[in-house]
Amino acid sequence: MSDPNDTLFGKIIRREIPADIVYEDDLALAFRDIAPQAPVHILVIPKRPIANLAAAEPGDRDLLGHLLLVAKTVAEQAGLAETGYRLVANTGTDGGQTVYHLHFHVLGGRSLAWPPG
Ligand code: AMP
Repeated sequence: MSDPNDTLFGKIIRREIPADIVYEDDLALAFRDIAPQAPVHILVIPKRPIANLAAAEPGDRDLLGHLLLVAKTVAEQAGLAETGYRLVANTGTDGGQTVYHLHFHVLGGRSLAWPPG
């Protein structure tokens, strides 16, 4: 029986489907979004499945901090440190979340409008 906590990002972690991976360590993976919304659009995910920020717990504190530093690292590697970038965690239905494995979008390479629509 399939695991309801498993998503297509789990398949990317296990290399069951391809992805353009730009960063990996023991806890995290970062890869290019398949439908980029900006010249740079990278997703940063934990290897351990957490559905979203709403499902995170106090015990996830170190992992969440690590993911933010990974986001900073991949943004720097993508050349965004000087021009800036946006970090987004769509959470739940109203947040527009479609994949229920926690992920941070790193978006940059153009001027981004605010507020989002
Ligand atoms: P969200 O809507 O915040 O849950 O974001 C999910 C993101 O995953 C979207 O931006 C999709 O374009 C992206 N996505 C879906 N499938 C893939 C895939 N196979 N490889 C990379 N990104 C994907």
